[in-house]
Amino acid sequence: MIMNEPERFVEICGMVGHYSERITGNSIVDAYFGPLQMAPDRQERDASSDELLHELVVLLEDCSDNMVATLRRDYMLGEIDSMRVVVEWLAGEEMSYGALVEGLFGIEMKRFSDSDLDAATDALRGLLSQHPGDDLKEKVEKFYEQGRIRGEDLRQLIVGELQQKAKEVGDMFRNRIFSVIGEAVTDNGVEYKTVQNEPWSGYNYYQGNYRSLNCFNIDRPFNKDNLLGVVYHEYEHHVSNLWREKAYEENKWTELSIVPLHTGRCVISEGTADTAKDFLEVSVDDPRKRIVDALYVLRRMVSINAAIMLNREKRGADEVVDFLAERGLRPRKDAEGSLDFIRPTRSDGRPNLWAPYVFNYFVGRTQFVLPAYEKAKSEDELKRFFQTVYLNPFSLSSRTWFQAFDWL
Ligand SMILES: [Zn+2]
Repeated sequence: MIMNEPERFVEICGMVGHYSERITGNSIVDAYFGPLQMAPDRQERDASSDELLHELVVLLEDCSDNMVATLRRDYMLGEIDSMRVVVEWLAGEEMSYGALVEGLFGIEMKRFSDSDLDAATDALRGLLSQHPGDDLKEKVEKFYEQGRIRGEDLRQLIVGELQQKAKEVGDMFRNRIFSVIGEAVTDNGVEYKTVQNEPWSGYNYYQGNYRSLNCFNIDRPFNKDNLLGVVYHEYEHHVSNLWREKAYEENKWTELSIVPLHTGRCVISEGTADTAKDFLEVSVDDPRKRIVDALYVLRRMVSINAAIMLNREKRGADEVVDFLAERGLRPRKDAEGSLDFIRPTRSDGRPNLWAPYVFNYFVGRTQFVLPAYEKAKSEDELKRFFQTVYLNPFSLSSRTWFQAFDWL
């Protein structure tokens, strides 16, 4: 059977998924809703890194030669090139952490200065000035303690109140954004579930057929205010995939039926998710919400610096946990938990697939999505902004974003 480039892309993604699973325990295939005969399950499981690299280079050349120069082609070229870097990295090829981050995501790795962190800390200090506690760390701890929730209460909150809240957020997307776009998309909803023993605190698994499973890791300490805030992020992932599935079905753009991790797509995906509250114009009149937001900014920055300390500077885990606890204003035990996501190797000694990922959130939001959203808003172009984001999935990569928004 002769396959076209998008079909070959789907197959190679599946093969690279098996490869990354073999090396790290995690597949880079995040979701699949395409034709059964091309499913990742059906792909060769033990291709070597050399075979994969060869296939990727040939596909890259064929796309470059055969596809017309459009956003669609550039999107695909970017995704293939990121996968090449995934394979080289996991095959043990020598590359710096900065080169890895740049190669995968098409963004520059940058450490925040002390004064950046101080500014974020000061913003938080201002919001907590009237709160009890001797110093800022104690104020934050007491604030968190008030909304602290664990065990059976936490499970109940997730499958009860949070599940309900997700329905409301779904309605908000329909009423405030899809109505502006002027198109509807099927939404079979998000189901909430609790899990344990994962390196992350929350994850959206897109299931296909316009449905998602949202998992929360209840090993992590949760704060109710925080958790209700995370729903917007996770729901936006769901929404973005709904439109992606629709675009695949309506246009037969086969390459969209597979969702790979560790490509330029992730930058924008985390960026739009982290900007969902802005999209929906969720008001921050509530003083508790403002504190949660300020803490969120500080902690996103602190985890980026921590990831650089671990992966580039090869500092010890203890030192980095101290840093996370001190600058991120969190108990040591929480800081230890968040290390799993950013450390270079897993506890079983294998490479940690997530090690380069942490940059996507902050960089995606502050360098890509938020500036474009704010400009569109000030120029009364929100309709076109949301149409670009949701009706054209090829705009959603660090490699194509600015091209897709060249009209703005
Ligand atoms: Zn996310």
